[in-house]
Amino acid sequence: MKRNSAGRLVWLSLVWCLPVVLFAGGYIVRDGQPLAEIVTADDAPGSVRLAALEFRDYMEKISGASLPVRTESEIEQSAGELLPGRIFIGASRFTEPLGVRGDDLEWGAYRIKSGDGWLALIGNDAVFTPRGIYSMSRNQWQNEGQKAWDEATGAFWINPIGAGISRQYNAEFDLWSYDEKGTLNAVYGFLYGLGVRWFMAGDLGEIVPAQSTIALPEIDQTVRPDFNIRMVNYSRYGLGNNPAERDAIIWSLRLGVNKPFGWNTHHGIANITRREEVREKHPEFFALFGSDRQLQVRTAAACLSSPGLFEENLRFARFLFDMYDVPVVDVMPDDGFSSICQCDLCRDQATPERGRQGLLSDYVWDYINRLAIEVGKSHPGKYIKCGAYSTYWLPPEKIDRLSDNIIVYLVNARRRVNIEEWEKQLRREVAREWQAKTGNPILTFQNPGSGANTPRIFADDIQGLRPATGALRRRIERHQAVLRQDQGWTG
Ligand SMILES: [Zn+2]
Repeated sequence: MKRNSAGRLVWLSLVWCLPVVLFAGGYIVRDGQPLAEIVTADDAPGSVRLAALEFRDYMEKISGASLPVRTESEIEQSAGELLPGRIFIGASRFTEPLGVRGDDLEWGAYRIKSGDGWLALIGNDAVFTPRGIYSMSRNQWQNEGQKAWDEATGAFWINPIGAGISRQYNAEFDLWSYDEKGTLNAVYGFLYGLGVRWFMAGDLGEIVPAQSTIALPEIDQTVRPDFNIRMVNYSRYGLGNNPAERDAIIWSLRLGVNKPFGWNTHHGIANITRREEVREKHPEFFALFGSDRQLQVRTAAACLSSPGLFEENLRFARFLFDMYDVPVVDVMPDDGFSSICQCDLCRDQATPERGRQGLLSDYVWDYINRLAIEVGKSHPGKYIKCGAYSTYWLPPEKIDRLSDNIIVYLVNARRRVNIEEWEKQLRREVAREWQAKTGNPILTFQNPGSGANTPRIFADDIQGLRPATGALRRRIERHQAVLRQDQGWTG
């Protein structure tokens, strides 16, 4: 897995539902004339201000009418004529007495409610606030951040949170990728209900119905996403000044993509093993091949039996929880983990009889499990995560049940292109095997590959984790036996 490959599709789903549209009395637009004011709080966060502008722009695209956007104070202090209707975007002094709120919602869920002459589009709009040691530019990190981090940790760790955090902030929209954005989702959900579709970034990719009258609907709806985590790793917030990046960010928002804080890190052990200083000081952290520890390769394999590495990894995870209050820390091995260390403690832990995809499953997941158990003692409520990937793609056989604070993300559980039915079902079967090992939801992670990424295939995969039966089931089992011996098939 490459750490920064653009276009990597991670967890995708659409959250929008069609609202039931009944006429509540009143109009947003009638015969091309605007009949409502768009209202936000005086101190609305960036995502809510963007939501108001998106609502205004699409009303105009649909009907030709331009609705005014005003703050709550401007409405209260207005001496002039106001339009009769009110579109409340996000929480404000007007929504409180109406009993409409969104701060109780999670994962981008939203609420749409209407009453006499008003429509409220609302969600949780909590704004991310960085904490601990971080820098808002690469230079600042090199000049100050790294030193502060090294002093605080007393170690030679790469910082997976604070060093690159500026890439998660977009100045133009005053938006963190980690912000909640529930109200923005409500606006897009409402527009989806009117027939707007976004098939690609930019104007060319959208479908907007023409409609000169838009009634104020009778509606009272709370929409919760089917999938809490919906990351698509192509929208680079820190580069929003570039028009193509700007379009990509906006498109990702229109699709309901999110990026909850702490979840977008992978190959976590690399943070401990990649720096030169560690290789000099702790060669015992690294795999023994022949008579030498592997120290030359950038993604050098670890010796997962090393007590020192285990302690270092444990301290690293605890440090991140304490400094950044992340919900989860990744402890996946570095990329290219294909051969097992030949030290006395490691070498017999490989299981070549399971084929390449299960070669190191018990070896790797035993390490993850031991680490998670220790973390659970000091940090209850926090999670450890690791990808099921390459030589540890299949579930371990010697662990019946993973520690209950482990989150598994199954890499390439879905498809890039259309493949035969049995192979598709095989991937789903492996997901079910993983699910049986943990009480937590399995995440899926998709590398982009070089072929076309097809929405129809995404949709089929996302909907399709149902058990196979009958003849198809028997065919999968036959192929499964063959594939697990096959060195060429890589999950
Ligand atoms: Zn070893």
